Amino acid sequence: MADIAPRLTALKRGIERLAELAAPAQAEEAQRLAKTLYAELDGLRDAGAPSAEQAPDDLPRRLRYEEIRCPVCSLRSFTYQKGTLRRSADTRSGFEALFHCLSCGHEAWHEAQ
Ligand SMILES: [Zn+2]
Repeated sequence: MADIAPRLTALKRGIERLAELAAPAQAEEAQRLAKTLYAELDGLRDAGAPSAEQAPDDLPRRLRYEEIRCPVCSLRSFTYQKGTLRRSADTRSGFEALFHCLSCGHEAWHEAQ
C-alpha cells in the first residue's frame, strides 16, 4: 500500500484542478462531484490496504525439496511436478503438490515444503 497513497493524492489534486476549471455556472456542481470523487478515492485506499499486506494467493515460487523419498520404493526420486503446488489445510507446511516417482512410477499428492 505504500505506493498508492501518493497516487491517490495526485488524483485528488487533479480532481480539484478540474473543479476549478469548470465554468461559473457549473462551479457548484463541479465541487459537489469533486467531493464525491474524494470519498470514492478514500474508500479505495481503505479497501485496498489489508489485502495488499496479506497477499492470500501468494504461493512459494519454488520448493525447498523438489525430490523426496518415495513412499513406495523408498528411493529419493519422488519428484515434484511443476505447477501443481496448492494450499492444503491438512499439511504442516500448509502446501501440497503432486509428486511422481521416476523410479517406480508412483504418483501422489504429498506435503510440499
Ligand atoms: Zn518410487
